[in-house]
Amino acid sequence: MIRIKGKAVSPGIVMGKAMLYNSAREAVRAEKISEKSVEREIWRLENAVKKTQAQLKKIDRDLQKVMGRDSALIIETQSMLLNDSHLLAEIKTKIKSNLVKAEWAIKETEKKYLQIFHTIPDLSFKTKSNDISDVLNRLIENLKKGSRSSLAAQPGQVILVADDITPSEAAKLMSSNKLLGLVLNKGGETSHTVILARTLGIPAIMDTGNATDSIANGDPLALDSVSGEVIVQPTPAVVTEISIKSEKYQIYREQLKTLSQLPELTRDRHQFHLYANIELPFESEIVQSYGAKGIGLFRTEFMYLDSKMSLAEEEQYLIYKSIAQNIFPHPLVIRTYDIGRDKSDAAVAKLEENPSLGLMAVRMFLKKREPFKIQIKAIQRANSSGNIRILFPMITEIEEIHAIKAIMAETKEELLHEGRYPKKDVAVGIMLEIPAAVSLIRHLQDDIDFFSIGTNDLIQYLLAVDRNNSEVSYLFSPFHPAFIRILNEIRQEAAKIGKEVTICGEMAGKCFQALMLLGMGFTNFSMNAMAIAEIKRVFTQIHYSHLRKIVARLDQFSSRSEIEEFLTESLLDLYPDLLIRQRLF
Ligand code: PEP
Ligand code: MG
Repeated sequence: MIRIKGKAVSPGIVMGKAMLYNSAREAVRAEKISEKSVEREIWRLENAVKKTQAQLKKIDRDLQKVMGRDSALIIETQSMLLNDSHLLAEIKTKIKSNLVKAEWAIKETEKKYLQIFHTIPDLSFKTKSNDISDVLNRLIENLKKGSRSSLAAQPGQVILVADDITPSEAAKLMSSNKLLGLVLNKGGETSHTVILARTLGIPAIMDTGNATDSIANGDPLALDSVSGEVIVQPTPAVVTEISIKSEKYQIYREQLKTLSQLPELTRDRHQFHLYANIELPFESEIVQSYGAKGIGLFRTEFMYLDSKMSLAEEEQYLIYKSIAQNIFPHPLVIRTYDIGRDKSDAAVAKLEENPSLGLMAVRMFLKKREPFKIQIKAIQRANSSGNIRILFPMITEIEEIHAIKAIMAETKEELLHEGRYPKKDVAVGIMLEIPAAVSLIRHLQDDIDFFSIGTNDLIQYLLAVDRNNSEVSYLFSPFHPAFIRILNEIRQEAAKIGKEVTICGEMAGKCFQALMLLGMGFTNFSMNAMAIAEIKRVFTQIHYSHLRKIVARLDQFSSRSEIEEFLTESLLDLYPDLLIRQRLF
């Protein structure tokens, strides 16, 4: 038995069998084969080529939906490379003459081509070398056994162990209902993979360093993501101990649910509002039982990433309308596709040098308007109950807002003309997650009805720290004085023009961070549904007047560690029961 420590990022306690998932590119070793195996190796290669061709075709179709024909040509270039008989002949020759496995022959061929391309100064060859690397690595991945599709072949539920996985892979795996838990070597606490696990109530631990080296396929695991530990091959005594802990945890969660009917008031009767973030439509059916008084953020890009879902106007209209009616009279905030960065197919993300600063979200859709127009139209059309609000992500400049408003006017006109416009206009909001957008607030009185702070990205872009990179996660802090300052600025500026602000990043669902926000004067919080009951327990237990006094003193500190320490200690002095979960288990 061994114990591996990590960071508990989605709570829960489960036991099950491990399944190793190879999604990251692994180092390829020079493995020799006998002459007898050459034919088999060539057969493996040809099979992988077929599989890769099929995948490229699918990506091509998906890309065309978002970016239109021109951009999809990039995938066609990769298909052409793959169909190039010289390239394949060269790999086969290497297998035959050097007696090596196909993976190594591919790597050697890649090396040769890259060396040639790098000696040519013309920039277009740089793109070509990316294409060649991409397509050859995809080929290597398709040579591997037990990757990607193997989860479907598993007989029961498993605990997935991986280096890291992309949100699109995570969405596919998690929706298959086969995941009991998730263990990642790396990962970021606000990465979309982790967000998805939290929303779906799948216990997850990340930042384990090298769990994939210590765990083998099929190993029995106990995953305790309350304390942040994975136990490999637990002894019978540990199995009993974990079962008891798991039962206690379930009881605790059930008790929390009973809070859902309590009024949203602090002890000194200060009002707050708790909403749910959802990623997929089916979640809307359960959020009210967790105590959500509406949906504060519907991340529709996960529908977009789910290749099985249709994005036609009619289908989207029906989905939005039914969620809005279910949640009525509470609000449903629908965020338009926040596609790009890590939320795209890996092949699409790779098309850019720096996807986090590139063509994403509204930037992408102001270039290729069709999918955006269809979505906006479906949202406007669905608002017959009057509780739908539309939210635009990743706003940088006021020109974008003007362009979006012009599209909304156009789609409204079309719907009116078709006799399908409901009586009510949707309220319009923007995400404040790129720091530059904060300076626009004062100019938006007439254009914007509400704001939503995406703290995950606001921290990322303000502190220049990748939200998905565990190497720099120590810097990803909501207690940095600059971040506290910008939050105060947002609250003051929005109050001046009389607009509502909701916090919808991950910090809204974390006890001490949410208390800090409440003490700053924010009242609307949107979070993963599983966190709502816990936040409600904490908020209903404190006095707003105490919080305000504590938070008012934060600006005397210059460092995130002092701020965090002062805040937690002051709160625990006043309310020792705040950390009940940690003490119970
Ligand atoms: C955020 O950035 O905080 C946010 C809510 O959006 P997302 O996490 O989907 O980028
Ligand atoms: Mg964001």
